[in-house]
Amino acid sequence: MKFGIDMGHNCPPDTGATGIKQEDVLTKAVGTHLIQKLKAAGHTAVDCTPTKASSVNDSLRQRTDKANANNVNVFVSIHFNKFTGTAHGTEAYAISNVSQGIAQSVLKEIVKLGFNSRGVKNTGFFVLKNTQMPAILIECCFCDSKTDMDLFDAEKMAEAIAHGLIGESDDVPPKSDKKYVLEITTKTVLKPSTEQSSDLPKESLFDIEPGDYPILDARFEENHYWVKWPDKSKGNRDEHFVYAGHSKVIEKD
Ligand SMILES: [Zn+2]
Repeated sequence: MKFGIDMGHNCPPDTGATGIKQEDVLTKAVGTHLIQKLKAAGHTAVDCTPTKASSVNDSLRQRTDKANANNVNVFVSIHFNKFTGTAHGTEAYAISNVSQGIAQSVLKEIVKLGFNSRGVKNTGFFVLKNTQMPAILIECCFCDSKTDMDLFDAEKMAEAIAHGLIGESDDVPPKSDKKYVLEITTKTVLKPSTEQSSDLPKESLFDIEPGDYPILDARFEENHYWVKWPDKSKGNRDEHFVYAGHSKVIEKD
């Protein structure tokens, strides 16, 4: 497996939260250990953290560009939360079906270290929406919480994330036993974006007949499903948007 590891912030003007500890220092420590552990287990880990950026947007764009250019299998963005010193625990973000399964698995391992589970949430963060592979963002814990910072150890956190991604054993691939099917209920078009078909160039649209189509991954976005195909047979693209009013994503065991 090839992982893209994004150590949140660490790229001025993209700097993280300041709590009892500085988020940038924490994400770098966890990410560095995580890359080492994945490599030690025989996987490839690409550091997607940029060093120079003109803006926060540019910093985020460089991270997703690097993951996409390297064709990583899973993208992992590491962050730490901050509130008012009163909140504590771990939360993970993921927007596609496959990503949410990975996020659950990672969260479960971190919670075993003693952190409070705040669940897997679905928020369309830039790095989740602009990566072409399953992607998760982990808020490891709160950098302004004494409870969390007393419990936190960068190496143990990285170990838990690695276990969540690759399993306890070195040679067990991540359990992805779920299959997804896109059911087209009414003849419709596959589109490169969620824009109305009439506003898109005709050559970017691809007709699709009613039926069941196996897909690799899906997420809901602005009344559409974004779907990832197993190949490029449909309009020479491996991902499309399809209007949710004409389709349904079904999970099959
Ligand atoms: Zn952050």
